[in-house]
Amino acid sequence: MNFVVLTIFPEMLDVFFRHGIVRRAVESGRISCRAVDIRSFSKGRHKEVDDRPYGGGSGMVMKPEPLAAAIRAQRAENPSARTVLLTPQGRPFCQDMAEAMADEAWDLVLVCGRYEGIDERICSSFIDDEISVGDYVLTGGEVASMIVIDAVTRLIPGVLGGEDSAEKESFRDGRVEHAHYTRPRMFEGQEVPGVLLSGNHADIERWRLEDSLIRTVLKRPDLLEKTGLNNQEKEILRQWCRKIEAIISST
Ligand code: SAM
Repeated sequence: MNFVVLTIFPEMLDVFFRHGIVRRAVESGRISCRAVDIRSFSKGRHKEVDDRPYGGGSGMVMKPEPLAAAIRAQRAENPSARTVLLTPQGRPFCQDMAEAMADEAWDLVLVCGRYEGIDERICSSFIDDEISVGDYVLTGGEVASMIVIDAVTRLIPGVLGGEDSAEKESFRDGRVEHAHYTRPRMFEGQEVPGVLLSGNHADIERWRLEDSLIRTVLKRPDLLEKTGLNNQEKEILRQWCRKIEAIISST
């Protein structure tokens, strides 16, 4: 997949592209990442990219001409890429969307707004999709574009070390993931659950399944409402209810 980020702060992205899994994916040729400075497409004497809003009011708006020129330049290079605007008004980004993007492997041109946002005429004429990374307002689309690139990149086959590293993670199958532990066995009075030291793979799998389910019940019950419970999970929860009943009746 090829990611191009249109921004007035390309240095923010350059650092991100040079670290961790994204860097590895770039080095292995599975993705390419480039930040393009919208300002370089401004024809103004001072390379302006923003102006006052028509109708008055506070803040500035990103001018349409440099953005249109920047998007057209990307389209000339890669006509099949999808142009996506990062905006708090867009479709909420989630794991399912990241998976769909990694599966479809569309090349993406990610447009980052700043100030009050971008001139509406760019949205209507140049944007294929609008994505929000959450119901809060950031100062710019750069962090949002990093979230999208990061979440999609790690789902591209071969990017993570073990092919199944992303398989059991949170939000796959509508559950949050089980707890993780590493050395030392005892840390400040807290010991690693014994089953994880048992070497019994079936028991460990069962413990992880239970832990993931109970955590989802406690932390993100909304996920269960969407996907429902299978028979094995219902039985696990019934066993927990019986254990809790026994504690209540013994007191
Ligand atoms: N005035 C805009 C509004 O109320 O919808 C918010 C503009 S925001 C200060 C500046 C830029 O940050 C936006 O154009 C967008 O690119 C980016 N941004 C802010 N919050 C975002 C979010 N939740 N998801 C994606 N992008 C966001």
